[in-house]
Amino acid sequence: MTLLEARTTPGGRVRTVSAPFAGDLYAEAGAALIHSTHTEVMRYIRQFDLPVEAMESGTIQYYLVDGKRISPYDSSIEWPYDLTPEERELGLAGLQMKYLMPLVDQLGDPDTDAWPSEADLRYDDVTFTEMLRQQGASRGAVRVIELGFENAWGDANRTSALFILKQMIYLAGRNLYRIPGGNAQLAEAFAAALDAEVRYGHPVVRIEQDEDVVRAVCNRRAGEVVVEASHLISAVPFSVLDGISVSPPFSYVKRKAIQDLPYTGATRVYLQFQRPPGFQSPGMWAPTTGPLMVICDDSYGYATGSRILLSAFITGRKARRLSSLGEAEAVQYVLRELDAEYPGIAQYFEGGVMTAWHEEPWSRGGYVSYEPGQTRRFASAVAPSEGRVHFAGEHTSRWEGWMEGAIRSGMRTAREVHEAHAQQASQARPSTE
Ligand SMILES: Cc1cc2nc3c(=O)[nH]c(=O)nc-3n(C[C@H](O)[C@H](O)[C@H](O)COP(=O)(O)OP(=O)(O)OC[C@H]3O[C@@H](n4cnc5c(N)ncnc54)[C@H](O)[C@@H]3O)c2cc1C
Repeated sequence: MTLLEARTTPGGRVRTVSAPFAGDLYAEAGAALIHSTHTEVMRYIRQFDLPVEAMESGTIQYYLVDGKRISPYDSSIEWPYDLTPEERELGLAGLQMKYLMPLVDQLGDPDTDAWPSEADLRYDDVTFTEMLRQQGASRGAVRVIELGFENAWGDANRTSALFILKQMIYLAGRNLYRIPGGNAQLAEAFAAALDAEVRYGHPVVRIEQDEDVVRAVCNRRAGEVVVEASHLISAVPFSVLDGISVSPPFSYVKRKAIQDLPYTGATRVYLQFQRPPGFQSPGMWAPTTGPLMVICDDSYGYATGSRILLSAFITGRKARRLSSLGEAEAVQYVLRELDAEYPGIAQYFEGGVMTAWHEEPWSRGGYVSYEPGQTRRFASAVAPSEGRVHFAGEHTSRWEGWMEGAIRSGMRTAREVHEAHAQQASQARPSTE
């Protein structure tokens, strides 16, 4: 088995960034949290004997509402949006219970073959925002409900309601875990355990197949490298596969899925500060009514030194706008906004960096995000193999946007290849009858 990896290190969108931060500070540029529902991730963490730590108080310490820190459970929040008197009474949790949970409860189980049923597909006809409005939520209530995490799967006003509702099923188990020291350890453990020849710095630019063999053609400075095999598993995001030439072309529906499924923008900007006296950490995830969407304390729970690492987690169109400023300007922008949320913090600023996944050539996006109608059209088209080519990656699983999806899809494609080999072997065996 040969593994061709375009980057020079393992991990893809699992990346722990420690440079240029001081001391033991690090941040997750991509995958950060592991939910208790992520059974395969947890199984591999145990198998590789990696450390794992429960986040004792979940992720959200407070919401930042017009610069004020508000407990998510506080029903007396003065939201800066137009809510009906009843909605004001309900508070955040009450709004979710009224407008969202009844729908989540009605949905089928995404992990079964029956998913999605015709009844589930009703929610694929509208965006998440439209669905909330149809449920009777005022515009203000929509803003409140969408704060922070619904935009995490792409712009809520463009993303299929069903796609986000499904994510809410997966989030139902509220226990959260992380790997102390960083998730890159998981990717490195996988790379070390592989019984394969791993070739880093080998971007595949062409895939060719015929009845007998499949070829991956890589672009190297010294020229093309061709690797031939009986089967090929493509684990590259569709956003990248779209630029790889394929001969003969895949089926029409696979090509459309590869071309049309959008990937959300995802920009993280991390800023290192001297720890301000009396600083009240936002925890791992503080949704804000300000332009930063979500503020994270990447040093939360482990950094005991004199410094902290805060970051903005921005997705969707805003993420693309922010990264288009360039790193230096984006850092200054985030610094100004953080200073508005935490007055005076700018004087403790030491430096910052940015990761913009949609700008990286081997990702071209944060993760896949379905628009209305796309579950109906593409959900059953993303995974099936095309001749000798099999498809893995979060985007080919039902667990889009999670490490869990990547691992489950890898297990599925491994089974597919084993079964294809077994079938070929049985056909090649001389008949004894
Ligand atoms: C900002 C952000 C936050 C996230 N938060 C979480 C979280 O909290 N929890 C969670 O579980 N998940 C999270 N995720 C999602 C998680 O990171 C991904 O779902 C998962 O890592 C995807 O794995 P993958 O193997 O499908 O794709 P990738 O990790 O992208 O792997 C694909 C690999 O293919 C390589 N490649 C690409 N093109 C080529 C080519 N042409 N030739 C050869 N190799 C190529 C890439 O370099 C890469 O190594 C987050 C992602 C982002 C971006």
